[in-house]
Amino acid sequence: MAGKKKIAIMTSGGDSPGMNGVVRACVRMAIHLGCDAYCVYEGYEGLVRGGDLIRKMQWNDVRGWLSEGGTLIGTARCMAFYERAGRLAAARNLISQGIDALIICGGDGSLTGADRFRAEWPSLIQELQNNGEYTALQLEPYRHLNIVGLVGSIDNDLSGTDATIGCYSALSRICHAVDLIEATASSHSRAFVVEVMGRHCGWLALMAGVATGADFIFIPEKPREDNWREEMCGIVEHHRKLGKRKTIVIIAEGALDREGNKITPEMVKDLLADKNGLGLDTRITTLGHVQRGGTAVAYDRMLATLQGVEAVKAVLEATPDTPTCVITMNENKIVRKNLMEAVKETKLVAKAIEAQDFDRAMGLRDTEFSEQYRSFMMTTAVQVDHKLMVPEKERMKIGFINVGAPAGGMNAAVRAGVAYCLSRGHEPVAIYNGFAGFARHHGDKPLGAVRSFDWLEVDGWASKGGSEIGTNRELPSESGMEKIADLIELYKFDALFLIGGFEAFHAVCQLRKARDQYPSLCIPITLLPATISNNVPGTEYSLGSDTCLNELVEYCDKIKQSASATRRRVFVVETQGGRSGYVATLGGLGVGASAVYTPEEGLSLEMLAADVRHLKSVFAKDQGQSRAGRVILINEKASKVYNARLIAEILREEAHGRFESREGIPGHMQQGGVPSPMDRCRAVRLAIRCIQHLEQFGRNVHNRVKNDPMSATVIGIKGASVVFTPVKQVEEEETDWPNRRPNTVFWKDIGEICDILAGRPKHELPE
Ligand code: ATP
Repeated sequence: MAGKKKIAIMTSGGDSPGMNGVVRACVRMAIHLGCDAYCVYEGYEGLVRGGDLIRKMQWNDVRGWLSEGGTLIGTARCMAFYERAGRLAAARNLISQGIDALIICGGDGSLTGADRFRAEWPSLIQELQNNGEYTALQLEPYRHLNIVGLVGSIDNDLSGTDATIGCYSALSRICHAVDLIEATASSHSRAFVVEVMGRHCGWLALMAGVATGADFIFIPEKPREDNWREEMCGIVEHHRKLGKRKTIVIIAEGALDREGNKITPEMVKDLLADKNGLGLDTRITTLGHVQRGGTAVAYDRMLATLQGVEAVKAVLEATPDTPTCVITMNENKIVRKNLMEAVKETKLVAKAIEAQDFDRAMGLRDTEFSEQYRSFMMTTAVQVDHKLMVPEKERMKIGFINVGAPAGGMNAAVRAGVAYCLSRGHEPVAIYNGFAGFARHHGDKPLGAVRSFDWLEVDGWASKGGSEIGTNRELPSESGMEKIADLIELYKFDALFLIGGFEAFHAVCQLRKARDQYPSLCIPITLLPATISNNVPGTEYSLGSDTCLNELVEYCDKIKQSASATRRRVFVVETQGGRSGYVATLGGLGVGASAVYTPEEGLSLEMLAADVRHLKSVFAKDQGQSRAGRVILINEKASKVYNARLIAEILREEAHGRFESREGIPGHMQQGGVPSPMDRCRAVRLAIRCIQHLEQFGRNVHNRVKNDPMSATVIGIKGASVVFTPVKQVEEEETDWPNRRPNTVFWKDIGEICDILAGRPKHELPE
């Protein structure tokens, strides 16, 4: 890396939750790497006006920023920056403070401005030299300006990244609002037309539709066919005939028909309310700026922090020859991409919409977008479009079973799987209460409830927490493998779809191994990982882990705030997670924990002593300015001896009155009430993929299944892709069985980032 740099950070364009997390991460990472950090206040306006709007930042200036909404350094739309004179003033202001690198967090407009600035930089420098403001020698260190972009936007409208910083927070606000509206809609049997943000991008409307199980959506990229009026009324009428009491239509503010005419919420309302048609009591709700507001969800804090850290590294590694980069997220991987290409592609979407080339507009969005669109269509148009059905002899009977503890998204996955099955003509069957429930017998007669699903029953499950079909930890071997094999034969299942955590994974391993003995088990089986602990091997993400992190972050925010009203206090919070430190580590990243203790690292007296010393020194330094408390997170199995209470007591004893400490145990609260939109949306997408995977095998394929490793799989997000991995491979190569977790984890280095940003000194690990 290059020598000491002066790095400025700014936020620009519309504000989005997570921007403060970006600023915090950039400022602290820059200082950590020996650079000076500056903030440019009020976006490009601050760059153009300079003076007090460009300020040097200290470590403590960004304390507590992770939980603040909006952007604390301000943002503005700046006309002057569109002009060369404005950009010349900006160059002058940067050079006068000695700044030679710039990190910009904003939307596509802001990033376009950034790239233009960098492209023009040499000529701006030349102009400052020509007009005698600076000499060539003085300008020498500034020949090259490093710029890195971060995408902060609630619309998720930038091509090349799956998620922009803030989009999941906005989605969360929308889903929360729709969940609330649903209750009243159902009570009065009403229809609601909900308008959400998105002028050129339907991501929010689409994902809200998927997450809430809306009846119909309108997005700019994919206008409905010309007969959209009949189509919408047909689907709503069909749902009503099936017994649904509520109707939700989500419409993006940029919704269009195929001729490019605007579709307004009023038009939709009039159609639904038409006395000669459906005649539904219909209301419009425009969510507006509520969608921008509030604190960032855990995912956005993670994105903001990790991308902020990456941006500082990118700035320091850039050379005059590297193109300006933007930091993106692809599935689960942080990637540097060419900024201008990403912006160019984004602009092409708007152009394609304008030219009514909608196939191209959809094609330019990332794969998740079009996959989610198809998922939405498959799950909402159940039994309306008969073209989706497979021929009679290919229709399968698929057993659904939940195994392990409940996790957010389990019900959404069941709902989507069932809807998909019904669209295709398969028979989805619920096996209640896990393998234990399945195996309940009286003599030869099974007592365990096994019942075909019907659509109306599951339709309301999109936003439900827990497990509606019941879940149980018992493994097939404990329930009796022979019994399970007999029952699978008895019910003539063609495939099994499991949703659950480590036990569910273990169950699939057992079923696969028992195939030699029990031929009825030679049916395709797949697992969709769902556990708050996120410890299932074969995937980097399990359903429910996002919900859990949100609950944990919210809990910690609240107790940290309570501390600001009392004395200087450290909270020691115990997290769930079994022997996986994922929840503790990612939670720690999201709340800015002073220390995180995980089972992977272990916990020793020396570590505790070092942390006590560190806390003493930070409390000594910020006398009187301690706005919020501090948090330490400890996983429930990090140590056999040191638990949250004991650590809180040790801290209290050692603090000698300099600060207080308390323990906090959120316990089962971490399973969450209503699942997060991310868990719900991923549940839909992954569940449909699972059924499609099972579908590929078809019926009566016992011999083929036995020798095909892909017939017993776990679906997972690994790096930048979604993959099915044979359980044989996962159990033999990827599993740390004694500790019930994967052998390697993608978040290994996140703990270090968390420590760096909390200013925790490097610690020796226990032997
Ligand atoms: P949002 O997604 O919220 O709209 P954005 O970053 O796209 O965010 P814009 O209003 O388009 O928001 O841009 C923010 C600022 O970036 C503008 O006010 C302007 O100062 C600067 N900017 C945008 N486009 C350019 C450009 N082509 N040249 C120079 N500066 C630009």
